[in-house]
Amino acid sequence: TENYMELWVSSNSQNESFCRVVVAAFVSRIDPTIEEINDIKTAVSEAVTNSIIHGYPNDNGNIKLTAEIKKDELFLRVQDFGVGIKNLDKAKEPLYTTRPELERSGMGFTIMENFMDEVEVKSAPNEGTLITMSK
Ligand code: ATP
Ligand code: MG
Repeated sequence: TENYMELWVSSNSQNESFCRVVVAAFVSRIDPTIEEINDIKTAVSEAVTNSIIHGYPNDNGNIKLTAEIKKDELFLRVQDFGVGIKNLDKAKEPLYTTRPELERSGMGFTIMENFMDEVEVKSAPNEGTLITMSK
């Protein structure tokens, strides 16, 4: 590992921007382009927002964010220990959302997949969700 960071935050809505800024600062040492930084920040926002809104819909829980740089490649993990995703195939479909009343558009996973090179989702009901992304 050339560099590693780990951050635990509670699922307050303010921590979405905090996680985004932390990852942007972490990757700055490998001289990403502005576009790359923006893509990474957007993907982090989508994953963390999902944990805040969907993972812990009723109360606050903890979110674990890790970032690792190996050979100029960034590996991100966003993990919650919340309700989990019942139907993963459906959840990944563009425009699919279980919270239309919150004005969600169902584009989070699509955005992560478009902005990062690799996106992997693991989830189990009542255990939580782990998103692994790289770029
Ligand atoms: P948008 O991201 O556009 O605001 P959205 O969050 O509903 O809308 P996605 O991010 O694509 O859309 O997620 C699709 C669905 O997957 C969500 O509506 C939710 O049901 C489920 N989901 C996503 N992340 C989690 C999570 N961490 N825990 C539980 N369910 C999740
Ligand atoms: Mg989302």
